[in-house]
Amino acid sequence: MFMNMPVTICGAGSIEDATVARCPVCNTPGKKVRPKTVENIVKEAMLPIVLEGYHLCLSKNCDVVYFGHQIFGKNDVRVRVWFKEAEHPIPVCYCKNVTEKDIVNHIAIWGCCKDIKDIQKHTGANTGKECLTKNPAGT
Ligand SMILES: [Zn+2]
Ligand SMILES: [Zn+2]
Repeated sequence: MFMNMPVTICGAGSIEDATVARCPVCNTPGKKVRPKTVENIVKEAMLPIVLEGYHLCLSKNCDVVYFGHQIFGKNDVRVRVWFKEAEHPIPVCYCKNVTEKDIVNHIAIWGCCKDIKDIQKHTGANTGKECLTKNPAGT
């Protein structure tokens, strides 16, 4: 419904810097993620000893989130990966914990916001500085 609004997903800007590493399950090129991101996004009990060398699977349809020495699926991580989810709540900003539904509420239901600028002001979406540790893409 509001999909033609220029919603910038926090961290999605750098999603194009895909590398040659491909997901072993779906064969889609992955985006390299930093050890710090893996450390914070993967559930504590699942954490690998070596945090280096992981990539985020960029396929919408693949259940793999990170691949490297090990594979981490959706159930192995603490957050929902926005581009792998079709059902609410779909995160839009991980730093400020804003979902797509929140944006619809602000604009269509509550009417307190008119555009994405208002949303940014009102919710703090995309103004956070914690992407490295809260956004599964790490940026
Ligand atoms: Zn995959
Ligand atoms: Zn609002």
